[in-house]
Amino acid sequence: MSDELDLDTLAIRAGIHRSAFNEHSEALYLTSSYVFESAQQAADRFCNREPGNIYSRFTNPTVTAFQERLAALEGGEACVATSSGMAAILSVLMGLLKAGDHVVASQSIFGSTVQLLTNIMGRFGIGTTFVPLSDLAAWKAAARPTTRMFFVETPSNPTMELVDIAALSEVAHAASALLVVDNCFCTPVLQRPLLLGADLVVHSATKYLDGQGRVLGGAVVGSKALVMDGGIFQFLRTAGPSMSPFNAWVCLKGLETLGLRMEAQSRNAQALAQWLERHPDVTRVYYPGLPSHPQHELASRQQSRGGAIVTFDVRGGQAKAWHVIDSTHLISITGNLGDTKSTITHPATTTHGRISEEARQAAGIGPGMIRLSVGLESLKDLQADLLRGLG
Ligand SMILES: *Cc1c(COP(=O)(O)O)cnc(C)c1O
Repeated sequence: MSDELDLDTLAIRAGIHRSAFNEHSEALYLTSSYVFESAQQAADRFCNREPGNIYSRFTNPTVTAFQERLAALEGGEACVATSSGMAAILSVLMGLLKAGDHVVASQSIFGSTVQLLTNIMGRFGIGTTFVPLSDLAAWKAAARPTTRMFFVETPSNPTMELVDIAALSEVAHAASALLVVDNCFCTPVLQRPLLLGADLVVHSATKYLDGQGRVLGGAVVGSKALVMDGGIFQFLRTAGPSMSPFNAWVCLKGLETLGLRMEAQSRNAQALAQWLERHPDVTRVYYPGLPSHPQHELASRQQSRGGAIVTFDVRGGQAKAWHVIDSTHLISITGNLGDTKSTITHPATTTHGRISEEARQAAGIGPGMIRLSVGLESLKDLQADLLRGLG
């Protein structure tokens, strides 16, 4: 389906291939393998002379539908779905890199991605240099002749720092490296990195794409040359961290409401951020949609809204932050995000609890910091829930 259609339409209509039953809603194909009409057809399928399904580790019609729909939304030619967000990132690294290659990554990326790059890829002779997200000169300086890939998340977690994707893609390409953007926080509804010059987008579908906290999933989107022919699909179908048909069906239906959810959750987040900024016990609010955000101008250019994650610092350090968190009745205390249910977490002792105090300070994560993933509850009820502890 072409990109002449609006995102709202693609989210509902892209990737539909009806079966002979002409079902209206997308079918869930719970099958591990497929039957051939003859030995000749089996041979043709296996030897790539005829396109078609062979085995669900390779392809499955429900997974294909999800892949086509997400590719359409991100404006990419091809997409492969994976069993989790980390499996998507693993597939990119294993599919495209070899021993001796080098990666430059933002120092503000998901903890498991840092572990994957350092502890696991490091064992296979792939080195990573971490640089401050928005410091383009540092990215440039870190690139070596062996650098194959730049890896970022924008906005970052939990401090909501941004990088100019178009500018960074120029730095990456000048160094003959690919730019990979983890677009988990924004989703294609708010930001489309491929259209800004990025080469690959990765997703944790576990977050906003499902959006209701039901399944794990992930995806890689980009050109056909990189995703299908460049080694990513080859790694996935051989090694097997593929998305299950059931999870693909859940995420496929999730995409249908993604636009409405991102819009409503971002609207809630924007209002909460403005309200928190005025509270006497809140010393700082980190939200790209606020004019006080140091990169508000970039955010307005690069994202259609501020997103649904709001981070703030409270006066009184960890004791006060924990008090605010423990006083909530409604908001769930969980490290997860991207759900229709609002969640609250204390980064310094959870997501960033195992790094050194020094590293935490360098990352700008203080003891009084709280991260909110804003859901679809009413603004009034969320405010009342936060006021229980904020006072
Ligand atoms: C959650 C998350 C991941 C990992 O996704 P899983 O589905 O948990 O494997 C990667 N990147 C970001 C930004 C995330 O928030």
